[in-house]
Amino acid sequence: MLFVMALLGFLPCAHAAWFEKSAPIMGTRVYVNVWHKDEKLAQAAIEHVFEVMRGVDARLSPYKPDSDLSRLNRVAAKRPVVLTRELLLLLEKSQWAYGVTDGAFDITFASVGRLYDYREKRLPSPEQIQQLLPALSTAHLAFDKAHNTLRFLHPEVALDLGGIAKGYAVDLAIEALKKRGIQHAYVSAGGDSRALGNRGDRPWLIGIKHPRPSKALGEAGTVITLPVDNLSVSTSGDYERFFIDEKSGDRIHHIINPKTGASASGVMSVTVIGPEGLTTDPLSTAIFVLGVAKGLKLIHSIAHYDAIILDSTGQVHYSNGLMPPDES
Ligand code: ADP
Ligand code: MG
Repeated sequence: MLFVMALLGFLPCAHAAWFEKSAPIMGTRVYVNVWHKDEKLAQAAIEHVFEVMRGVDARLSPYKPDSDLSRLNRVAAKRPVVLTRELLLLLEKSQWAYGVTDGAFDITFASVGRLYDYREKRLPSPEQIQQLLPALSTAHLAFDKAHNTLRFLHPEVALDLGGIAKGYAVDLAIEALKKRGIQHAYVSAGGDSRALGNRGDRPWLIGIKHPRPSKALGEAGTVITLPVDNLSVSTSGDYERFFIDEKSGDRIHHIINPKTGASASGVMSVTVIGPEGLTTDPLSTAIFVLGVAKGLKLIHSIAHYDAIILDSTGQVHYSNGLMPPDES
């Protein structure tokens, strides 16, 4: 009976179809998949999502000198800077994440992190790290709530929203699609994605990539597949942007432990699932830094969010809200 009703519920859209397109935005590939009966409307909605994403990039990229974030980074050590509503939202959420993760998520990581260049295989020396580490702390951010301003309390502070901006952008994209009457869609920006509704007659499935596919899995590539209707999924991995340091043999990647200024170690990938990208994105980055035990403890303290952690031995750890596949 339930099955028949579900089928009838989907009939009004019987002539609809899936439309999909991708574009390079925010230093990654943005992928949009939309279900609608009007092709023109669907295509316009997809283009609108790209516009929304490009807007976020233009305002929040630390690499674009004209972005709101670059302006803040240039000025806030000298005098208070008035924040846009968007920056305020992201900075407040980042401050929340800093608090609940015991400092593992810290947007001031960039005070040291900006000296890494993964393409050029460059990393800061231990002396440079020691010198800049005192600038790395969200405690240096002095908000004046009455005037909506922010001031940096240390001259070397630099902010980077790379651990939260894509999850936020995916949320904005889904909101934009909903406003256009779309009820079934999927948007991803690199490791951050969100499903609206279901895949039509089945759930949306998101695959978690194996962090070392050639060694462990041959060509298969995916270790775990998750059903994710109406959910956000963020994955942080040490395989997205990295190089192997010739001197030490260490894997130098883009998730920085704020306590040391070096790449975090102990896990290979973290996936967080929950209602909003604004929350899954910083939590996946933070759990990567925290490791298995502290990471699971953290996710268990946050209602409606779950995590899957692949540790550096390849073992998979699931938070309590998930039912792991039977591996017997
Ligand atoms: P991506 O989807 O880009 O792989 P992640 O969610 O894994 O992103 O986050 C990695 C990004 O987060 C880095 O590129 C950097 O911009 C930022 N970041 C790195 N370390 C930290 C940290 N400890 N706290 C906050 N942001 C961080
Ligand atoms: Mg993240």
